[in-house]
Amino acid sequence: MNKFETLGVSAPAVKAVIELGFETPTPIQEKVIPTLLAEPCDLVALAQTGTGKTAAFGLPLVSMLDFHSSATQALILAPTRELCMQITSDLKIFSKYIPHANVVAIYGGASIINQIHELKKGAQIIVATPGRMVDMIDRNKVNLGSVEYVVLDEADEMLNMGFKEDLDAILASTPEEKYTWLFSATMPDEVLRISRKYMDHPTEITVGAKNQGNANIDHIYYLVNERERYAALKRVVDFHPDIFGLIFCRTKIETQKVADALIKDGYNADALHGDLSQAQRDFVMKRFRSRVLQMLVATDVAARGIDVSDITHVINYNLPDEIESYTHRSGRTARAGKTGISISIISNRDSGKIKTLERLTNKKFKRETIPGGKEVCEKQLFYLVQRIHDTQVDEQSIAGYMPKIYEELKDLTKEEIIKRFVSTEFNRFSQYYKNAPDLTHENGDAHGGTRERPGVVRLFVSLGEMDELNRHSLKDFICQTADIGQDGITWVDVKKSFSFIEVKTELAEKAIAAFKGQSYRGRPIRIESRGNKEEGIPRERHRNKYRGHEKSNGFRESAGHFRQREGGSRGFRREEGSFGRKGKKPFYRGNR
Ligand code: AMP
Repeated sequence: MNKFETLGVSAPAVKAVIELGFETPTPIQEKVIPTLLAEPCDLVALAQTGTGKTAAFGLPLVSMLDFHSSATQALILAPTRELCMQITSDLKIFSKYIPHANVVAIYGGASIINQIHELKKGAQIIVATPGRMVDMIDRNKVNLGSVEYVVLDEADEMLNMGFKEDLDAILASTPEEKYTWLFSATMPDEVLRISRKYMDHPTEITVGAKNQGNANIDHIYYLVNERERYAALKRVVDFHPDIFGLIFCRTKIETQKVADALIKDGYNADALHGDLSQAQRDFVMKRFRSRVLQMLVATDVAARGIDVSDITHVINYNLPDEIESYTHRSGRTARAGKTGISISIISNRDSGKIKTLERLTNKKFKRETIPGGKEVCEKQLFYLVQRIHDTQVDEQSIAGYMPKIYEELKDLTKEEIIKRFVSTEFNRFSQYYKNAPDLTHENGDAHGGTRERPGVVRLFVSLGEMDELNRHSLKDFICQTADIGQDGITWVDVKKSFSFIEVKTELAEKAIAAFKGQSYRGRPIRIESRGNKEEGIPRERHRNKYRGHEKSNGFRESAGHFRQREGGSRGFRREEGSFGRKGKKPFYRGNR
């Protein structure tokens, strides 16, 4: 006997579910389905997105409704058009073997005339967004007099989105005698109010702990300098060549800006936010769903209800203003039992929020350092090798060219061919990442310490951008003055008024000694071991105090400005591009 059958699901629905490939009920289905089928009741179910809740309420509905009648018996309300369409599509599949079953979707941004036409045919189940439903009720185009079941899906999201009054109006238009099933990822006061107002001793079912983030999600954060947020994003993305991700920003302006910058830098990305027309949003979503886009940059509101499976990473480019939104964001990954990663890129002033998020999700957030250039190159190299290994050869098409190719390569050994083939790509990104700066926040030791690299020593240098030096000119100047070769300095990071360099351990003494008593443009130079952090960083803070116009770098900010908005107008530093710039499609971002 099929497991869904043992839960009480009707035979035609079981047949459809088997066809869909659902073998085992998810935990929420296991609890909710028999409860709803055993005895009619009101229900409050706490479950994250992606847990299989559509089938948890959908299968009982299609098992219980009277499809001989064309009267509307079930009304499902969902926060977004995407979710509304998704639920409709799922219910149509669940009821495909039930004669006369009709499920109609009612949502904004599409022709209301067509939807009225659909309703006239008779729909036992209506799936609607609250705004358009109120419109239908106002126009007297829908008869809710026979409704027996109302489902409020993602109730917290509907309230977040300001549908409170619409929900009240719709529920008031349904019969007093009915059963209400409420599904929500979190249980804020407004959701409790709805449940108290419209439900009678509801059965409560919780999957996982209340307000808990999805158990299969790893939460990671990177602490970076504010001005390096975008460079950090790219580094993270480059470190995950097979990413299929959702990047969240706080404002529409920031969303568009990040998406534009990514596109310019050669990534397969696009923006999704409320300033786009419905047609534009549909187009973007279609491309994302079909994986033409590898990354979607979105606002919280626009991304609500997006149900795209297999999202590997959610990246919080900025943490949300509303702390609860974090669970909605991260819940877009790790759907239906899969695993996922939620990454937050934070600056010093946001670091206090991590503890709050750990409490909210009941999960430990792991601080990691932004991958260095070498690590990114290594990752890309092995990804390339893996792709070569897994590439399907189209024998027929390539056969004609092979004799000439063999002839061309005949003087090379197998090892040489492999090396050269891999180098055609590897050289490009290793060149690009040569001298890539360390993007991890210098003041982040409290959370995990700066990275120690073997064989090199980190030195503080009292020269920086204000001395009109950049990575290259500073390196040249130090190499010349200390009489050390270019490869003696392995890394340079130039800040406003000071810099950090890494020199090979055996050359450190020589470099420090060479600068004793030296000056640059009349300014005495200090070079000293990075070990004495007290001498380096506070000096920058001191200077900032007297240079009030300088952009905040985190030191002057106090932590815990939880609701402070970015404004989204910060410019992006261009010096760090991606390998795929200037229109050339990078090898690792092919459409899959
Ligand atoms: P939902 O939470 O309803 O949006 O479901 C998330 C995803 O899980 C959807 O893609 C469903 O098709 C899938 N799903 C739901 N129930 C099951 C199940 N029992 N077995 C396998 N996949 C499922």
